[in-house]
Amino acid sequence: MSTTITHFINGAETVGSGDRTQPVYNPATGEATGELRLANRADIDDVVAAAKTASESWAETSLTKRVAVLFKFRELLAENVQELAKVVTSEHGKVVSDAAGEVGRGLEVVEYACGAAQSLKGEYSDQVSGGIDVFSFRQPLGVVAGITPFNFPVMVPLWMAPVAIVTGNAFILKPSERDPSASLFLARLWKEAGLPDGVFNVLQGDKEAVDGLLTHPDVDGISFVGSTPIARYVYETGTQHGKRVQALGGAKNHAVVMPDADMDLAADHINAAAFGSAGQRCMAISVAVAVGDAAEGLVAKLKERAEAVKVANGMEPDADMGPVITPQSKARLQKIVGEAQEDGAALVVDGRDLVVKDHENGFFVGPTVIDHVRREMSAYREEIFGPVLAVVRVASIDEALEIINSNPYGNGTAIFTSSGAYARAFTRGVKVGMVGVNIPLPVPVAWHSFGGWKDSLFGDHHIYGPDGIRFYTRGKVVTQRWPEPKQASGASFAFPSN
Ligand code: NAD
Repeated sequence: MSTTITHFINGAETVGSGDRTQPVYNPATGEATGELRLANRADIDDVVAAAKTASESWAETSLTKRVAVLFKFRELLAENVQELAKVVTSEHGKVVSDAAGEVGRGLEVVEYACGAAQSLKGEYSDQVSGGIDVFSFRQPLGVVAGITPFNFPVMVPLWMAPVAIVTGNAFILKPSERDPSASLFLARLWKEAGLPDGVFNVLQGDKEAVDGLLTHPDVDGISFVGSTPIARYVYETGTQHGKRVQALGGAKNHAVVMPDADMDLAADHINAAAFGSAGQRCMAISVAVAVGDAAEGLVAKLKERAEAVKVANGMEPDADMGPVITPQSKARLQKIVGEAQEDGAALVVDGRDLVVKDHENGFFVGPTVIDHVRREMSAYREEIFGPVLAVVRVASIDEALEIINSNPYGNGTAIFTSSGAYARAFTRGVKVGMVGVNIPLPVPVAWHSFGGWKDSLFGDHHIYGPDGIRFYTRGKVVTQRWPEPKQASGASFAFPSN
């Protein structure tokens, strides 16, 4: 049965006035399960108008009351982790435990936002000149929009909304068209938590909705997470229209394995980081860089582990990995693996033709490991965003660093080693935003901020954590004097000096 997936504007679900729709699929079965409404110009104007009105009173609401809503939202979210996880699995395909993990990482950001009273404290300088004091504080931007990717339909919106809202903004979420239902679940929880209507809204749609938000004069800030070409476009278009923009892009994450690493630990973690969520994570490890004689032991262990991954409908409790998001995604990665083979790479594990019993129409691909991948191959150059692990063999840590640093992406990376000296040289020398030492997915906890370098991030601010607070607010500095009655004014035509 196909359900209508609506917008959520000014506290209510609405089909809006657009007449375009798009099907939403369950990738494990290939069935269309929902019909998504796509916003038109009138829907965009409606949601921005509702958010603008709501932002004015919300910014005036005391910080204590705003934080109280965040605490209530935190409780509701914690109570609904499993239910929300199943909504994610039904449209994304990832296994339920992984979906619950994504809700958990989003919950961390809500908890960080609950501490906004501390994060928003200003600064004060007493008596900077005779009788003059200076204080600085931060105020909300107004209306901010979040444009999010399919691969984390709960976590990525929660990287943005809690911080934007607690700092006094109204928020418009434009979720991915592929798995939009979780956004409505979140909207209902915000309402139940007591958030005033219009402070959290959902606008469903495609490029038309995104362009409408990027150019609307009443939208003040844009947070984007998605692929690099769209991130670049969103950054350029949004900033040309005078908005503050942070746009997080794609990735190609390398894990370097030194010969002195614990090979079982490295293989276990690289396997999980390459194939968890079917490789559809912006922090997924897609390249293992084997240094020196690390390769022989490592590749054999990776083969063993990849072959043991249980691929199934993500709703099944013992599934390790579900399907990829679309048939197009499956076809694209099948093509790239074929090209690598033609170009002389060695196919160690080939998951291209995997069929899952009773799910013949599902978009499944099995874990795939390709050895002897070289930099000119499409399997190295492209962000595959699927369960494909490329192994590149190098002679030294310097060569590993050179490869990573000349890659256009710079989101995440990791080194597996038992040497502090190697780890230190790597963490200092690598041109990547988030680095793990014996940790394959170094996603920062919520009170640090998340962000890549190079083509993985356009804009000055990382997302959530302290950078999130800064992104969603602007600074104001007040220099004040309260002169005694009839005191000499001290005014001068010279530039004031202290
Ligand atoms: P995507 O770029 O296709 O879509 C992201 C958002 O942009 C969606 O809301 C979509 O509706 C919108 N969009 C798509 N095409 C558009 C266009 N032409 N004009 C305007 N808007 C458009 O990304 P995706 O396939 O949903 O997600 C996967 C990508 O996201 C991968 O590249 C992955 O690395 C990246 N990602 C990055 C991070 C990070 O933190 N850096 C996190 C998660 C995902």
